[in-house]
Amino acid sequence: MNRRQLLTNALAVAAVSTLPLSLATARAHAAATSLDKVVLVGLDGLMYSRIQQVQAPNLLRLSADGALGRTSIAPHVTISGPSWATVLTGVWGTKHGIKDNNFDAAPFAKYPTVFTRLHRANPALKTHSIATWDQIAIMAGSGSPRASVVVSVPPVPGDPEEFETDAATAAEVVTAITRFAPDFLFTHLDQVDRAGHLHGGGSRQYLDAVTRIDGLVGRIVAAVDARATANPDERWTILVTADHGHRPEGGHGGQTPDETTNFVIARGPSFTPGTTSSSFSLVDITPTVLDLLNAPLDPVFDGASRIAQPIDLFASR
Ligand SMILES: [Zn+2]
Repeated sequence: MNRRQLLTNALAVAAVSTLPLSLATARAHAAATSLDKVVLVGLDGLMYSRIQQVQAPNLLRLSADGALGRTSIAPHVTISGPSWATVLTGVWGTKHGIKDNNFDAAPFAKYPTVFTRLHRANPALKTHSIATWDQIAIMAGSGSPRASVVVSVPPVPGDPEEFETDAATAAEVVTAITRFAPDFLFTHLDQVDRAGHLHGGGSRQYLDAVTRIDGLVGRIVAAVDARATANPDERWTILVTADHGHRPEGGHGGQTPDETTNFVIARGPSFTPGTTSSSFSLVDITPTVLDLLNAPLDPVFDGASRIAQPIDLFASR
């Protein structure tokens, strides 16, 4: 049990002793969906240095309002399959064993995804995966239980650089947040990686893709903020990360700094605005999400929860 759970339980006991609630009612509340909500935005192939280069307003504002981790994921394999698997399991490829984009659901039986772990901890939770890259569905749709909702947005015809497909993915995310307020939502947007492959990580087109993706992030953040304003008892956290960078001429999978660069943005009530870390990386995402949603951590994790320690009400007594 972590500090947040201790606090929650202490408050629940206080409620039982001061309000006309039966223990059964309190238990029913404990099994309901959470007031803590997490949206995880995965931006394929994005380098934080390019966010700074184009002064992407939404991502820079999220960083300023939250915690920012910037680090290298070397010697991890800088390919989408291994990296998104690490984001969604909390273990490196040395454990889950995925080395490229040819993978099946088998690794997620041994190393359950964050979706599976959340549902095992609280069957009432609602989780969504909404992705441009269809192979995300292999991860989110695996295990028992799997994510509540798994969507692979179909490629828009005549959209080779994925501008429209990513926009459709973001629109689905906005709808999901607005209509369903899932406890955990993961989305994957792909066009920055596509621009890197077609034109290079040092190209004008890559920078333009960063600016476009920033606009889509802005729509998702606006949906979260509108929902949070209308439901002030809910505690919303937004996490943003990437799977790898790109060489200036395009491509990844190697160990150059442009490929191994990684970042995490974490904005919400459990993160201190303006703080930075040189070690907070994609491997910490799953433990952090579980901690935010009061689900247990697992010693198998290579990453750790990065939520700030709440004010210690017990020690001050
Ligand atoms: Zn790629």
